[in-house]
Amino acid sequence: RSKESGSNQFQFYTDDLNKQSLEYLEKETELRQAITKNELFLCYQPQVKLTTGEIVAVEALIRWQHPKKGLLLPMDFIPLAEETGLIIPIGEWVLRTACLQNKAWQDSGFPPIRVAVNLANQQLKQPDLVAMIRNVLQETGLDPQYLEIELTENVLINNIEVINRIHELKEMGMQIALDDFGTGYTNINYLKQIPLNSLKLDKSIIDNIDSNRSDEVIMQAIIAMASSLNFEVLAEGVETQKQLDCLKTVNCENIQGFYFSKPLLSQDIEELLKKPDSFKTQENTYIKAV
Ligand code: C2E
Ligand code: MG
Ligand code: MG
Ligand code: MG
Repeated sequence: RSKESGSNQFQFYTDDLNKQSLEYLEKETELRQAITKNELFLCYQPQVKLTTGEIVAVEALIRWQHPKKGLLLPMDFIPLAEETGLIIPIGEWVLRTACLQNKAWQDSGFPPIRVAVNLANQQLKQPDLVAMIRNVLQETGLDPQYLEIELTENVLINNIEVINRIHELKEMGMQIALDDFGTGYTNINYLKQIPLNSLKLDKSIIDNIDSNRSDEVIMQAIIAMASSLNFEVLAEGVETQKQLDCLKTVNCENIQGFYFSKPLLSQDIEELLKKPDSFKTQENTYIKAV
């Protein structure tokens, strides 16, 4: 009898596994088709220069309008894209779409801004990454100075090929930003080797800002370090007036966060670009966009 129930259990277990791998396969197929079925789209979140209130760039952030599940955020499908390798075609689609959009904004006469695109570690490890980006820039006609590449620190560690690739992109005229700064183990030696334009301070650091002066001191130290290496600093995930005031005190250059604006559809970005003073009132205080 125990043998019987044992074999039943085994049966149950394999059925379960089959069901799981079937679901996984289904998800992969759905994601693969999402590109061709036009279910992926980009939102754009403004990056605002603190001293002037002008929009200097927008970060492209991917979304998936799933036919059954509704709107999905990157955390819902980027891990699957990375596991399955679909991040490679999806990443290329993101880059092309963002560059096309930025070129279209410039062609319709808006003041030129940068578009920032997140690159997954897997993309950065592709030997043909530089050729792919060069090709997209050529096809879309976007001047490289208006493209910013965002990468995270961990991909640089012990990877000279990736570091060389970043140098090539920089030499082509792109801007390079280090994303999620302050979340991992930071080795200043890596920072010196990378031709960065900016550090993006992670939201978790910004969230620490309170009335406590020590946070201001830490922020000041990071910004001093960055400026001695000639990097600009952008604070990510800024939501409150208190955070903004602190960042102003320590001369942080750029701000991205819900305080100014959530990620928006391209047509809403256009509304902002039509009014160069979107984020400034006459009293020199900032206003929320949406
Ligand atoms: P990230 O590159 O660090 O992007 C910033 C994330 O913070 C975005 O989340 C943005 O919506 C969110 N955020 C910005 N300001 C605030 C704020 O004031 N408060 C709060 N609570 N959140 C804020 P999102 O769009 O969900 O993206 C999450 C992550 O997914 C991104 O983090 C990036 O690592 C990844 N991702 C997004 N789009 C792409 C893409 O096209 N390719 C790749 N490889 N990764 C992407
Ligand atoms: Mg980013
Ligand atoms: Mg980030
Ligand atoms: Mg992040």
